[in-house]
Amino acid sequence: MNKRIPEPLKALVEQLARLPGLGPKSAMRAAMALLKWPEAETRRLGRGIHDLRDNLHLCSRCGGLSSTDPCPVCADAERARDTLCLVTEWDSMLTLDEGGFYRGQYMILGGLLAPLDRMDAESLDTDRLVRRLEEGEIAELILALGATLEAENTATFIRQMVGKRFPTVRVSRLAQGIPLGAEVKYMDKETLRQSLQYRQDLK
Ligand SMILES: [Zn+2]
Repeated sequence: MNKRIPEPLKALVEQLARLPGLGPKSAMRAAMALLKWPEAETRRLGRGIHDLRDNLHLCSRCGGLSSTDPCPVCADAERARDTLCLVTEWDSMLTLDEGGFYRGQYMILGGLLAPLDRMDAESLDTDRLVRRLEEGEIAELILALGATLEAENTATFIRQMVGKRFPTVRVSRLAQGIPLGAEVKYMDKETLRQSLQYRQDLK
């Protein structure tokens, strides 16, 4: 970065540049735009970022983001308690739930097996899933991890782990009409509805 850029601006640009989709150049543009904002608005933005930490929690049941614990989905007594849908990230859960065709429980895995990125079986957080299955309520586990290579490997790993420890739990996954490489959060509602309806047992 140019040496003549004042330190506070430089610090902000460096932080903004860490956001997805923002390189150093667009971070600089964003910082320049912020400088033109009225002071009250920049303060509100700063407070908003600060409040994220203070007022947003991880739901202890599903691992999703929420202002309450448990989150509204896990706290909903109307939802089926014997079906658990495992998704990779929280936004996949949002996409799935928006459709309104799935009325069971969710859990967020938080990552996929990716040996090249040093994500191995140990760094995958399966403890929450194991604890949930140990409660004995779940009869079917639906894997909605997507159709990428990492998702396939992770699905196989989970299938084996659950098969060994909880042999009575049915493990299924979304039907394979999903285009290869698709991530659940980017799927359209109808594709999702159908792939859930025609989900397949994972042997
Ligand atoms: Zn929850």
